Amino acid sequence: MRKLVSAGEILVEIMAERIGQSFLEPGPLLGPYPSGAPAIFIGQAAALGQPAGLIGAVGDDDFGRLNIERLRALGADVSAIAVHKGHATGTAFVTYRADASRHFVFNIRNSASGLIETDGAATNLLASADHVHVMGSSLFSDRAVAVTLSAIETVKAKGGTVSFDPNIRREIMQASGVRAALDHVLARADIFLPSGEELFLFSSAKDEKGAVDELLARGLSCIVLKKGAAGAVYHDHHGAVASSGFAVDEVDPTGAGDCFGAAFVSFWLRGAAPAEALRIANACGALAVTRKGPMEGIFPLEAVEAFIVTGNTQ
Ligand code: ATP
Ligand code: MG
Repeated sequence: MRKLVSAGEILVEIMAERIGQSFLEPGPLLGPYPSGAPAIFIGQAAALGQPAGLIGAVGDDDFGRLNIERLRALGADVSAIAVHKGHATGTAFVTYRADASRHFVFNIRNSASGLIETDGAATNLLASADHVHVMGSSLFSDRAVAVTLSAIETVKAKGGTVSFDPNIRREIMQASGVRAALDHVLARADIFLPSGEELFLFSSAKDEKGAVDELLARGLSCIVLKKGAAGAVYHDHHGAVASSGFAVDEVDPTGAGDCFGAAFVSFWLRGAAPAEALRIANACGALAVTRKGPMEGIFPLEAVEAFIVTGNTQ
């Protein structure tokens, strides 16, 4: 089976317990939960049985161990996660507002994650990789951009493929070259997985069809538009396939897009038809929102298939 790799931020997430809770005063918190968009993605892909590994860095601390142990338990290749003494693992504090929007306090660039590099272990992992998945949020520093771009070049040079989820988090994406890097990644991508307004960051078109047509003409193989509870729509040069979402009680939306993307890309790599890849991806996205914590709603393939049949999330 083809191996997929991602590179970027590895964090713990700590969540305000109450909706509307402010970080300007003390309050109850939940966590730590393992997190970081590329870590969630690689964890979900591995849980579905896809060979998958992550390039990144954590501190020599409990938060780092929590992440590595979780990824290992899910079946991911953790050989290219560097452990740095003297630097703490990255953190993301999140509070949900009453309008369902999220407010984050991130510490990524100045955490162990900021030390990400293409070291010997990362080079070895890339030597066995067939596909690179890029999260826009992973372009959080010049150094992180360099790691991602070199991973793309290495894998493309041997005929591999690339997927790209813009996953825009403005609080993180402050590197001077981030806009150019996003465009560079898109130009090399085979699969593009935007959600909401992210589609229009890369197109001058005003409507969805215009933007999709313009982006497909630039060389993408396919575009998958994530639409939250409504599901997703796949577009390629032959047409579109829509797939509705699964009805679940949403308790925490963080991680849905990453789990969805991991499932879609894993099944695309296996040669699944778009409708099948979308069905599994919608199921993984729906399951992700049923648990507090971005990786707590990752399930193995058998449980995802059972959920598709029964709707049971236990
Ligand atoms: P993220 O917040 O992780 O960045 P995103 O904005 O990238 O998410 P969404 O469209 O919110 O992506 O969610 C991705 C997928 O997860 C959806 O296409 C859908 O399949 C599933 N999903 C998300 N929210 C729900 C929900 N409330 N009910 C059912 N499925 C959902
Ligand atoms: Mg997203």
